[in-house]
Amino acid sequence: MRKLSVKTRIAVWLTLLMGLLAALLLAFLLSVSKVVAVRTAMSQLAQTVRSNLSHTAMLNGRLELGSGFDFYQDGVTTLIYSRDKALLAGQLPASFTVEEAFQNGLTRMVSAGAEQYLVLDLWLPMGWENGVWLRGVMEAPENRRLMFKLLLVALIIMPAFMASAALGSYRIAKRAFRPLDSITATAASINEAQDLSRRIGLPPGKDEFSQLAAAFDQLLQRLERSFESEKQFTADASHELRTPVSIITGACEYAERYDETGEERQETIAMIHRQADKMSQLISQLMSMTRLEQGTEPVRLERVSLDKLLRSLCGELACDPSRLVLEVPNGLTVEADPSLLARLLRNLVENGFKYGRPDGHVWISAAKEGGEVLLEVRDDGMGIPSGQQDKIWQRFYRADPARGEGGTGLGLSIVRQIAQLHGGYMTLESVPRVGSAFTLHLPAPEDAADQGSPIKFQTGKTPGGPSVS
Ligand code: ADP
Repeated sequence: MRKLSVKTRIAVWLTLLMGLLAALLLAFLLSVSKVVAVRTAMSQLAQTVRSNLSHTAMLNGRLELGSGFDFYQDGVTTLIYSRDKALLAGQLPASFTVEEAFQNGLTRMVSAGAEQYLVLDLWLPMGWENGVWLRGVMEAPENRRLMFKLLLVALIIMPAFMASAALGSYRIAKRAFRPLDSITATAASINEAQDLSRRIGLPPGKDEFSQLAAAFDQLLQRLERSFESEKQFTADASHELRTPVSIITGACEYAERYDETGEERQETIAMIHRQADKMSQLISQLMSMTRLEQGTEPVRLERVSLDKLLRSLCGELACDPSRLVLEVPNGLTVEADPSLLARLLRNLVENGFKYGRPDGHVWISAAKEGGEVLLEVRDDGMGIPSGQQDKIWQRFYRADPARGEGGTGLGLSIVRQIAQLHGGYMTLESVPRVGSAFTLHLPAPEDAADQGSPIKFQTGKTPGGPSVS
């Protein structure tokens, strides 16, 4: 059975089931017909014996039978016996060889050899002491003929019935499984043609196959999108890597041919250095992104004190301390991986300076609001036009490549990835020529201390900052 297709299996099961049902129906019909036949015969027997009883009388000690009395009528033989069970009139059927005791008014089945008889006795009293027995005897209805007929019909009809049941159920199963064939064919064609743009495209419906096909199409759509974005990513990454490589190669060739003075060589070397730095930054960012995506860089969550983390981060950043302002309440903590959180904040702060005014500032503030801890990095820089605010999170997207030299366009993608790994998300408010505010929303730890008044830890002396909301 395992080797058969599901369609054939369904057809076989249905056919067997139908066959079983038909056999049960036949058995039921036979038993019902037997009961009906016996009941009809019993009432025939009772009617005939009672009719004969009404035509029986005793006149002057002699038995008188009326003209309506029939010893044999409609298969019923009537016999008259004396009180002492001596046969007075009538003739027993030859095969009724048993001696059956008399029982007044009770119809019963009596076996005599191979035959079965229905017997009914009625006592006709005559005077105080005397009387006669009327015994009706009738062959029990034979079911055999009916059975034979039914079996004959069954023998003729059953094969045709079973064949049409098998064919019908196979066709129904085939039609029901057609969407599955289409799913299989689509999957095979995707496999052969390596084409993820194909869809099963079943019309929407509530049946399981339509739902399976819809889910399959959605899956294909997601696969196609992620495949496309992977392709795009590979193309972008190789392009971004190729650019500094070709600049370095070009610079080397130029230096070989034309650089004559030590000053010129020094300039070329500096340029090669910058491009090599850019490549190394790009490679480390790409590796970091891949590790985060593949989960090979484990996220070790622990309770992190924000003021401590931010103070040590500010110490590491190579920026003018008077341009960085911290507004972080004492004792505010989050559940985070400290090195990933520091990487996220460093990216945002460096961007704040990179895309800020030469004398601009960056403000870092933290607060607990509702069930979230908000960490905001705000600057008073060039801002981001509203049409680009969604795009800056994409890999390699740079709003203005001329600004922020050495940028790779990967920083904010990593920021968002780290936020998501912590169960959080990023929001941005930005006004061109006023500034930008990037906010990290993290779930607040359940027993986090209430937000106190922000303790201003100012590396410089500049308070406030632009309002970009
Ligand atoms: P990168 O800085 O390496 O170019 P990012 O992913 O960090 O890449 O940023 C993507 C783009 O978003 C930047 O190129 C820049 O145009 C814009 N951007 C990011 N931060 C700021 C900011 N604070 N102010 C203005 N523009 C920004």
